[in-house]
Order: sequence, then C-alpha cells, then structure tokens
Amino acid sequence: MKIYNTLTRKKEEFVPLEPGKVKMYVCGPTVYNLIHIGNARPMIVFDTFRRYLEYRGYEVNYVSNFTDVDDKIIKKAQEEGVDASEVSRRYIAECKKDMEGMHVKPATVHPLATQEIDGMITMIATLVDKGYAYAAADGTVYFRTGKFAEYGKLSHKNLEDLQAGHRDIQVAGELKEDPFDFVLWKPKKEGEPSWPSPWGEGRPGWHIECSVMSKKYLGETIDIHAGGEDLIFPHHENEIAQSEAASGKEFARYWMHNGFLNIDNQKMSKSLGNFFTVRDIAEKYDLQVLRFFMLSAHYRSPLNFSAELMEAAKSGLERILTAAENVMRLAGAAEGQAAANGQDKAQAANGHDVVQAAANGQGMTAEEAALYARSEEFQKKFEAAMEDDCNTADAVSAVFELVKFINTNVSAQNTAAYLHSLYERLRLLCDVLGIQIEKEAEILDADIEALIAQRQEARKNKDFARADQIRDELAQKGILLKDTREGVTWKRA
Ligand code: AMP
Ligand code: ZN
Repeated sequence: MKIYNTLTRKKEEFVPLEPGKVKMYVCGPTVYNLIHIGNARPMIVFDTFRRYLEYRGYEVNYVSNFTDVDDKIIKKAQEEGVDASEVSRRYIAECKKDMEGMHVKPATVHPLATQEIDGMITMIATLVDKGYAYAAADGTVYFRTGKFAEYGKLSHKNLEDLQAGHRDIQVAGELKEDPFDFVLWKPKKEGEPSWPSPWGEGRPGWHIECSVMSKKYLGETIDIHAGGEDLIFPHHENEIAQSEAASGKEFARYWMHNGFLNIDNQKMSKSLGNFFTVRDIAEKYDLQVLRFFMLSAHYRSPLNFSAELMEAAKSGLERILTAAENVMRLAGAAEGQAAANGQDKAQAANGHDVVQAAANGQGMTAEEAALYARSEEFQKKFEAAMEDDCNTADAVSAVFELVKFINTNVSAQNTAAYLHSLYERLRLLCDVLGIQIEKEAEILDADIEALIAQRQEARKNKDFARADQIRDELAQKGILLKDTREGVTWKRA
C-alpha cells in the first residue's frame, strides 16, 4: 500500500512498525462551536483510510483528540457566563452526534487535553532539562526552535529563511529569544482555567497537547499522524520538534494531510457568509450524502462544495442504494420460491449461510458462478485505488462499475445464493467507504410497547437516566414518544 508522505513529499510503501498493527493519530477539532463541513473532511477521509486498513486485516489503534482548552473556548464561555468546561463538554457531545451521522467510527481513544496536563508538564520539564525550552520572566515557557536542528523538515521550510523573512513578527512585550520560538506553557490570566506547574499557574500551549496525547496512547514513535494541510506549519512542525527533542526518537513515520474544502470556489469563512456546519447540512440531507460527496474527490485535492455537487452526490448514492435494495428484494423472492419448492429451508432462509455456501461454490448455477467470479474484478479495482494513497475517487468509480454490473446481471430467475453473494460484495466495499446500504431493521410495535413499559417502570423508580436512555434509543429508530394525561403515545417519524 502506498501513502503520500508530507515529510518526504513522495508516495511511499506503507510498512508498519509492528506487523499487522497500525498506530494512527488524527488531530481533532477545537470544541467551541458545532463542527463545520471543513472539519468533517479529515474526520471522513481518515476514518475511511482506517476502515480500509481494517479491511486489510490490520489492527488499528486510532487516536483522535478534542482540544478542550483554548482561547476560543474561553472567549465563548465568557460571553455565555459559564465555565469553559461546560462549553467544551457541550460541543464534544454535539460533535459525536455529527460523527455518528457521518458514520465516522469512534476512535479507539478520544483523549481530552484537559485530562492530560500532568503528561504535558512532564514533557515540558524534560525539554527544559535538555535545554530545548526556557521559562521567560513572565512565566511563559517557550520551545527553543534554534536548538532543534531539523526544525522545518515537515513543512520544508528553513528556519534561517523564516527568520530572515519575518524579523517583524516579534511581538512587543514577548520575552522570546527568537520570533519562531513557540509557547509550551502560558501563565494564567484572570478568569481563565489554569493548573499548577513548576513555572507557575497556567495552561498548556496547543502544540504540546498532541505530542503528549500521541505519546501516551500510541508510544514515542507512531506509524501515521494526520490532519488538515493547514496544520503542517506550525502545528505539526512544532509537534515534531517537541516530541523528537524530548524522546530522541522519530515521532511519526508517515504524515498525511487532507486538502481544504472550499465553498463555491471560495475559502469558507464566517465573514463571507459562506459557512456551513454539519448540522446545517443534516437539515437537508442524510449525512451519508455529505460523506459520499467528500469521498468523490482524492483527499489531498482541494474540494469545492456547492449545492449542485451535493445533489450529484445524492443521486449517485441513490443509484447504489437502489441497486442494493433491488438485489435484496430479488433474493427475498428467490428464497420464498426455493422454500415453496421444498428446498433446504434452513439454507434458503438465512442469507449468511447462503453466502457461505456460495463461497464454497454451492447454491449457484454454473453460469451464475462464472458471473460472480467476474464481479471480483471490481473489488480488485477498488482495492487497487485504495492501495494507491487512499484514492477514494477511483474506489467510488469501482463501486459504480460493480453497481452497473449488478443491474445488468440480476433477475427474478437468479438463485438466492448468487444474489446474496453480489449483495455481500457490494456491502463489503461500501462498508470501507462508511456507506451503509442495509436498511435499518424496522422495530416491531410489540418491541416499542415493551420499551415504553420499561421506561414507565424506570420513571416510577426515579431512574430518570434509564428513562431518557430508552427515549433516545427509540428516537434513534425514528419512534417519537409523547407523554399525555392518558399515558404515553407514540408514532413513527
Ligand atoms: P480546528 O478545529 O480548526 O483545529 O480543525 C480541526 C481539523 O479540521 C484540522 O485537521 C483542520 O486542518 C481541519 N480543517 C479545518 N478547516 C478545514 C477546511 N476548510 N477544509 C478541510 N479541513 C479543514
Ligand atoms: Zn494536533
């Protein structure tokens, strides 16, 4: 498998540190608002890459943080007159809802910066001991970039050139030795969250958070570090400097960066008024349409968001879902037919067993077996695209080819084994893309009534957490409850 590595500016063969295992860190959002569709891009593309690694049989330890202490969070909290932790907690919960809607799998761990302060203090102390960091008189601790000889290796910038071009960036009142020294620890300001440290009360700088969380959950050297291309400099450059200066080891072997999402060919920005949250999109579309739209481009290319392109993504996705539905309908009818003809009912009634039988060459006619074997070509194309630096655009094309093949090669005359096998092949590839083709199993009236009874019981026992949980569970399945004087009524949304 090849990955384009920002560090070497080349596509390289991916060789994990440990065979069969991948340690991957993706920089997560700063949680002061609902996430926007730009933030959704790294979530979706790197989740897809993770899913492909898992499809290939790798065990992936996938870590993605939430930055829950930051100027923007503090500002928002002050505006609302609440604690910064309340703001971050709220938007982490909202972000997780959006992730679920976009079928972004939860990370193995989602660390929070505020829970990792001890580790940050330890790393900063190591850097100070080794002469890579210094505390200024005002309590700010800076990283001494000039001492880290490889500074600039990721962004391919040279510190001397940077310094020559930016003599003016020294801000008055800052006590840095060099304008490119960056903050590891900042002293407390009134009304801001702070923690005790050897350099006084304060809070960590942004870059140190990721270095520490990556080390804690994945180790000193990891396989892949990823994020949006705006993070290459200074965020990732600074992470490398801190981590490698502290450990003396390589920090990450492969660096992957997604291109930016623009709107109507313009940079997305609040002031231009061309700014969408994921929640805005959810009002109009199933969020898997947004996901499918993102995957229609290569992750490193800039991607333009527009109403027309979303409509195109919607109809493309519908083509896939319609084919899947059609095959399932035919398979159901074929099973019914087989059962009526007195064939092995157990085999006929269970799709999974039928697929198993098909894999063993059973259940299909010879002609069907030949067609099914031909459909493997599209899976191979899909894999070849994903092996080539996660080229989801070509992988999606391979799925469309499979859909076309399915549409032209299924009919009511086919066996259930053949139909199920084709469906299964389509499901497998869509699953890598995070596109769900199965219809949610419909919940039966009797099950709804039973859950409502359990909820009433929980309320009677004052177990309101459980009662709310049942309400949410039902809401997720599209069942809306209404508490009336006469009792609870419900309807399907
Ligand atoms: P932030 O909360 O700004 O740190 O961003 C979280 C993640 O979203 C980072 O990986 C950013 O690079 C990424 N990101 C932010 N805006 C965009 C955008 N317009 N297009 C693509 N990625 C973005
Ligand atoms: Zn980061």
